Parts: sequence; C-alpha cells; structure tokens
Amino acid sequence: MKSWININEDSDFSIHNIPFGIFSVNGSGERMGTAIGDKVLDLRAANVLGIFEGIDVPAEVFDNKYINDFMALGKSITNAVRERIQAELCDESSVLKDNPNTFYEQSRVTMHLPVEVRDYTDFYSSIEHATNVGILFRDPENALLPNWKHLPVGYHGRASSIIGSGQPIHRPVGQTKPPEGDPVFGPCRLLDFELEMAFIIGRKSELGNRITIDKAKEYIFGMALFNDWSARDIQKWEYVPLGPFLGKSFASSLAPWVVTMEALDYFRVSGPVQEPKVLPYLAYEGSQNYDVNLEVTLFPDGGEETVISESNYKFMYWNQLQQLAHHTVNGCNVNVGDLMASGTISGKDEHSYGSLLEITQAGKKTLTLNGGEERKFIQDNDSVTMRGYCEKDGRRVGFGEVTAKILPAKL
Ligand code: CA
Repeated sequence: MKSWININEDSDFSIHNIPFGIFSVNGSGERMGTAIGDKVLDLRAANVLGIFEGIDVPAEVFDNKYINDFMALGKSITNAVRERIQAELCDESSVLKDNPNTFYEQSRVTMHLPVEVRDYTDFYSSIEHATNVGILFRDPENALLPNWKHLPVGYHGRASSIIGSGQPIHRPVGQTKPPEGDPVFGPCRLLDFELEMAFIIGRKSELGNRITIDKAKEYIFGMALFNDWSARDIQKWEYVPLGPFLGKSFASSLAPWVVTMEALDYFRVSGPVQEPKVLPYLAYEGSQNYDVNLEVTLFPDGGEETVISESNYKFMYWNQLQQLAHHTVNGCNVNVGDLMASGTISGKDEHSYGSLLEITQAGKKTLTLNGGEERKFIQDNDSVTMRGYCEKDGRRVGFGEVTAKILPAKL
C-alpha cells in the first residue's frame, strides 16, 4: 500500500495504521477522525463526500463525542470503513485528494478522550512488575503471591476519572501513615506513573455468558497508551485488605488514538512460556502477544525531556485473550467502551521498569535527568509522556503519545 499523502518513514500513522479518535478545531464540535502522517482526516467530512458508499455506516457515528457508537457497529462495518479509508488514501483519483480541506495538521487540532469508558479494569500481568513490587512491599523470597501464575490478577478501577491526553492533574491529597506515629492528611509525596496499555471492548456480552478464550478476539476493538497514575504513599496505607482505592482513582490518562487490533495483527509475537500449565479455560493457541516498543519520558518545567524507561508490551505474562476469558468466566458481562488495562509493563533490566517505584526502588535510589535535576518521585509541574510503536519489515504502526502535567495540590 502506498498513499498519495506524504508520510515520513518514522511516522506512527502510516497507511497500515488508520487509528480512530475524536478531535475538534478552533473550538468547533467534536467529530471522529483518523491520523495519517502528520495530518488528521475529518471522517465526518469524508463521509459527506461519499467515500463510505456501500458500507452500512450511519452518518451520526462520525459526528460524535466518542467512538463508542462506531465501535458498536461491529467489526464487519468498522473494518470495512478502515479498509475504505486506506483504499481512498492510496487511490490517486480519490475525491479526498480534490478536497484538501478534509485534512488538518495534527499540530492544529485538539484531541479529546476517544472513548466514553463504561467500566475500567486494571490487570497486573507483567511478571517483572509483580515481582519487583512483591520484593519492595512484601517478601523478597516469595515476591509473587501463590495465585499469580494461575490467574491474571486484576481489580475494578474507576472509570469517571479517566481523562484525555494533555489534561493536567492536581497532585492528589489524602491520608498516609508515616513509619512512626499516627496517620496524617496532606498532599501525596510519592506520586508515580504506571506505563500501561489498554484494550477497548467493541462488542457487548450478556450477563451470565462467559467469553471463551477462542472468541475473545471478536470483542476487542483496539488499543491505546494508558498512564495509570498512582499515589504510592496513599496506596501503601489504604490497600490492605481490599486493594487499591484512592491511591489510584484520582486520574488515569488515556491516549487520543485507538489503534485497531487489525492494524496490530502484523506485530503478533509469542508470549512467555507459562509454567505451571494454566487451567483449560486460560489455554490459548498461537502467538497472542504484541511487539510494541514503549518509552516514558519525564519533563520538568523549564527543563529537558529525559527518557526514563524503555519497555515492551510483548513482555506481558498474561495476554489479552486470557485476561478477557478470565474476567468473564464467572458470567460478568462487558459493554462497548469498557477499558481493560494491562498493569504496569516492566521488562527485566532496570531501564525497562514501568514505574518510578521500581526505577528508584521506592525512593532508595535517585534518578538524574538530562538537565541535572534529581527525582525519586514526580514533583509539581513535571510532565510525564508515554509513547509506543510497532515496527517490522519497514512497516510502522504507532500509538502517538499520552501526556499530562502534574500541578500543585489543591488544599
Ligand atoms: Ca495499574
């Protein structure tokens, strides 16, 4: 496939990608778009030009604040739309070529939260992360709890505080417990990010019906970068015995572009060997991990941006199909717009750790940034950005970025 649009070789948004998102221009209404090279194609306008003729797609889905209604049309429609966009962007005689006003520079548009998130589940599926946290919080000899290799551990997160990229966050305040003395109230002092990827549900299931592992793929629309912000001091005091609560629910940042599973299929790789053998409902066939290069940067106000982690989504011990099969095995239903996050994605070596908790060993080590600043955790006015892309045989499909700045606490 070769597009008539000029696309840089290192662009996340090649003709092989065609992600979906929501954008606006100069305060005009939100609508659906796709990213191609350094441009956004206005799908509402493209539809008016008739490029989706013959596909049963209602115009309203493009004139929308979220991509949920589009996803709900089902893969037979959404894949046809995506393939038609690819065909038009390759066809020299396309009506889009005669209508350059259907394209905008990405630098000139405002991107919005792409999905109205119904329910948010956070897994804990990186063995390196779970091991590192187990060593720091519990017992170095038995870092993984007995259940960890038998099921994809997860918890129900908070959907209302999932925000779009670029939206700043005030440092959370809450209750923490100093090593000595009584609990205190105040701003979080150990603010952290978690490098994660989310998959988005595009098809609903019925209460009482499980999604078997061989059908799980039909329910997953696509993926996006996800930063699951964490207040480590609040988390440490509150999490026993029911798990994370206010230390997590103040905000999570979701990237603007949802990359379809069809675009990612080319980058599937085999996952780690699972030993002990999993129960039959979690047994899967084929290569079901994805090779996504990931990075995290920290950018102090007025300073220099520094890459502080380079990881890869392929390291996940539990894959998406296992996560979804497990999630629904008890009859729990899913809805269009549900978001399932991977859990922090850490690799084996120190430079691939997906949180500051691991990078600084809970503050025992100091991280020195390119501009000379030192960090143990995130300070006010720091920005954290995550980027990710797949690349194989000269084909690149990327996720863009998810970024947010931390503002001082509101007391
Ligand atoms: Ca998390």
